[in-house]
Amino acid sequence: MRGVTHREPDDLPVVAPDRWFRVTEVGDGVTLVEEPHGGELLAANIWHVRGRDRDLVVDSGLGVVALRESLPWLFENDPVLVLSHAHLDHMGGAHEFADCRVHAAEVDEVRRPGPASLRTATLLDLLGLADDPAWALPDVALTALPHAGFDLDAYGLRGVPAARPLEEGDVVDLGDRTVTVLSLPGHTPGSLALLDGSGALFSGDVLYEGGLIDSCHGADVAAYRRTMERLLRPDLLGRDVTRVLPGHGRVLPPADAREIAAGYLASTRP
Ligand SMILES: [Zn+2]
Ligand SMILES: [Zn+2]
Repeated sequence: MRGVTHREPDDLPVVAPDRWFRVTEVGDGVTLVEEPHGGELLAANIWHVRGRDRDLVVDSGLGVVALRESLPWLFENDPVLVLSHAHLDHMGGAHEFADCRVHAAEVDEVRRPGPASLRTATLLDLLGLADDPAWALPDVALTALPHAGFDLDAYGLRGVPAARPLEEGDVVDLGDRTVTVLSLPGHTPGSLALLDGSGALFSGDVLYEGGLIDSCHGADVAAYRRTMERLLRPDLLGRDVTRVLPGHGRVLPPADAREIAAGYLASTRP
């Protein structure tokens, strides 16, 4: 495959599990957990929202390192895990949660996941992205290993047989705050975002800073365009949303998110 550079797993540094994730408070009871060693393709965000009766966790990382060992506080307040969609960098740790929810269109995938890989060429092939010349990536997706001798090829996703389906308009109640599900297909059929009462929009892979992916298996450009048009309507990014907490990259003010959505519409055809 074009652009893949060779990197042996043995060349990668080892980062202890307790330093695998990077934790940052972002205000209003929300904590960002990053997985930087997922590399360019797989370094995704986990969001933790403190609630009175329960906590909310949005997405669950790759599953390379056990969240319960590395971040035990994630589990202290009966967390409900909501997956933005069923890609490996977001659902890898889902099996660690007793209450896991995902859009109905992807609940089967979470209950019985397909194959996954940390080897870039295999992964891009599985995702349906192998022919995209835009990718110029090392042949191992990770930029570090969680322990010496880590077996890349033993990696796989564990299913969550008890995963529950979510639909547009469903509400997750944390006691003193609620979040509402927005069904925003395009990146995948079941891509969702969560909007909380304070105006935080957890946008998953629907909208983040950087190249948006609309050519993987299950992606749909026409649906993605409708999603961006919906986000740009006066109520959402124009009024209700005060900040966007995406699946990858930095927290976005609404003006930046509007620019990304408008840029997507300008660069794709109906
Ligand atoms: Zn994704
Ligand atoms: Zn992602």
